[in-house]
Amino acid sequence: MSTANILDIVIHPNDILRQICAKIAPNEIEKEKIQQLSRDMAKTMVIKDGLGLAAPQVGQIVRLIVVSTVDGPMPMLNPVITQTSLIKEWGEEGCLSLPQLFGRVKRSKSIKIEFLSINGERRRIAADGLLARVIQHEVDHLNGILFIDKAKNVREIAEE
Ligand code: ZN
Repeated sequence: MSTANILDIVIHPNDILRQICAKIAPNEIEKEKIQQLSRDMAKTMVIKDGLGLAAPQVGQIVRLIVVSTVDGPMPMLNPVITQTSLIKEWGEEGCLSLPQLFGRVKRSKSIKIEFLSINGERRRIAADGLLARVIQHEVDHLNGILFIDKAKNVREIAEE
């Protein structure tokens, strides 16, 4: 197994962050390109202290996200949010592609999501609270949407 690399993050403004990402064909999943991208994204997210990372943030216009879970980084291929709770809540968000910007975004408190695992297995999970928020933020990236498009009180916090 090859090692994982730390990838450069695409910084806003950049057209790549505004693209609609392409679905990953099932026969592409086992190929090295997607496997390596998934490993690299997981490592990049951890090293850069992100809670999630979407492929366009590393310059790849494909429907792949990685989210931080209690079990470690979880890749989700072709993720689709199939249910959203009527209950929404405001929460603070930031983004590796918008360094030092933060804002409050209203999101569904809980969601259901379907995706393919890195082994190509169809998975369906429920997520709540912060994990639900992170998944909604990352799926937005796959549709060219950034949190600043939805946020209130966007502000810049200077790096120490
Ligand atoms: Zn983001």
